[in-house]
Amino acid sequence: MSDNKHTGRGFAGKGYYIALILCAAAIGITSYVYHRNSQKIEEVSLQETQVEDVLAGTMGTEDVPVLATEAPTQSTAPATQATAPAATEKKPLKTTSPVSGNTISGYSMEALSYNQTTRDWRVHNGVDLAAEPGTEVCAAADGKVYTVYEDDAMGHTVVIRHDDGYTTKYSSLSENVLVKAGDTVTMGQVIGYAGDTAIVETTLGSHVHFSVTCNDEPMDPAEFLALGE
Ligand SMILES: [Zn+2]
Repeated sequence: MSDNKHTGRGFAGKGYYIALILCAAAIGITSYVYHRNSQKIEEVSLQETQVEDVLAGTMGTEDVPVLATEAPTQSTAPATQATAPAATEKKPLKTTSPVSGNTISGYSMEALSYNQTTRDWRVHNGVDLAAEPGTEVCAAADGKVYTVYEDDAMGHTVVIRHDDGYTTKYSSLSENVLVKAGDTVTMGQVIGYAGDTAIVETTLGSHVHFSVTCNDEPMDPAEFLALGE
């Protein structure tokens, strides 16, 4: 009996130690597994924050705009350099002022100028050349009449197209216009007479509002007239 008890206690004692070792092993494995999992979670959460940064643009937008801003300036800069000399060097136009009067209101597309008639500040896409009523107005260069019309604001108007993408426009003319759409005109040919039909410029009196575009972009008429010098 005593042997049985002894062996029973011995068994119980061994079982106790085995249980202890198993517990320790279990704790060790559990902590190892937990540690590994937490590492994985950290790695995953790091990747997620990186993805979020890219999506939110905190990483991506810093890179993309640099490329985007550099690309257009590189591509547009040579293009403008290439077209500008070609337009002026190719075939210079002969030009002349449509009337010989003084400039009473200058070209101002980049800054607002005060308009005495409308009493507000606005851009001015041409020059106003003083001319007595009935003064002959002539074509500033060889070309073809594109249109003749009466503008609500600028009065009787003639538009002439020229080589190299230039267009000249003559406004505030009297109603006695001498050309019509489709007519071929030569530099200095009389196309009409100075008047005061531009309602938005009546305080200037009789004059010609002369404007020029190159490839549909407004340009200073003085620069256009300088081409023919
Ligand atoms: Zn004007």
